[in-house]
Amino acid sequence: MAPKGFTIDFTGKCIIVTGGNRGIGAAFSRACASAGAKVAIIYRSSKDAEEVAAKISKEFDVPVKAYQCDVSDGEKVTKVFGQIDKEFGPVTGMVANAGVSVVKPAIDLTPEDFQKVYNVNVLGVFNAARAAAKIWMGKQSGGSIVVTSSMSSQIINQQGTNQPLTQVFYNSSKAALSNLTKGLAAEWAPNGIRVNALSPGYVNTDQTAGMDEKVRKYQASHVPLGRFAEPHEMAGQAILLLSDHATYMTGGEYFVDGGQLIW
Ligand code: NDP
Repeated sequence: MAPKGFTIDFTGKCIIVTGGNRGIGAAFSRACASAGAKVAIIYRSSKDAEEVAAKISKEFDVPVKAYQCDVSDGEKVTKVFGQIDKEFGPVTGMVANAGVSVVKPAIDLTPEDFQKVYNVNVLGVFNAARAAAKIWMGKQSGGSIVVTSSMSSQIINQQGTNQPLTQVFYNSSKAALSNLTKGLAAEWAPNGIRVNALSPGYVNTDQTAGMDEKVRKYQASHVPLGRFAEPHEMAGQAILLLSDHATYMTGGEYFVDGGQLIW
């Protein structure tokens, strides 16, 4: 049955958002709650995640809970997602959003830096996607997974002023997500599970807060819309992909980048 009109109503849905306590993830959590979903926020180490959940819950009058879980620990992710499904769910959608970066010249990068980035950005996304898929396998309902990738899956984002500086581990981890998204989408389509990637351009969050002012200006001048985004400007695409208006969308990568990939 086609949904009526173009309102989005998540009443009765339960959505997990990894890294849902701050930055872009917090904007996803708020948007899901504002549409009426119960939201399970996964965080790693922030002290105020439970407060954030309580605040969103109060604002939109829906249950929102915070769960501590490092997404790089596959066994724990499966356990925590299973627990959320039983006690708080049933889970209907999941946003694999947690991500980290190491900004260093390539010549100085270490195997520890590689593990730090890939264990969260690639293995962490896989762990979360598989844990969600395990919940939905064999059920009629299926589910929707949104992976937060980056426009840097496609381009080398240059952050140097006097010489090139490109976050090679971060960029390449996001490129891996483009392919991971397609592979999981293909394998799980018969199970009614859709997997899509949302790829932001530059967004004002803690991740970009430490950026050199000169680099920030340079980068903003290369965005056709002329500025970095605010986190809430990412939420519309995520909500669409999680909704019943997107039942024929899978394996895609959707750029929300102010037009930056045009140039
Ligand atoms: P932030 O640095 O603001 O927040 C990162 C979030 O990820 C936090 O909630 C953090 O939890 C969580 N997290 C990190 N590591 C783990 C882990 N091992 N297990 C569980 N949670 C973890 O990031 P942004 O909001 O800027 O970015 C969100 C996503 O968007 C990332 O995937 C990022 O790569 C991507 N992105 C960001 C862009 C930007 O310009 N900001 C541009 C393009 C993509 P805690 O608070 O507990 O540490």
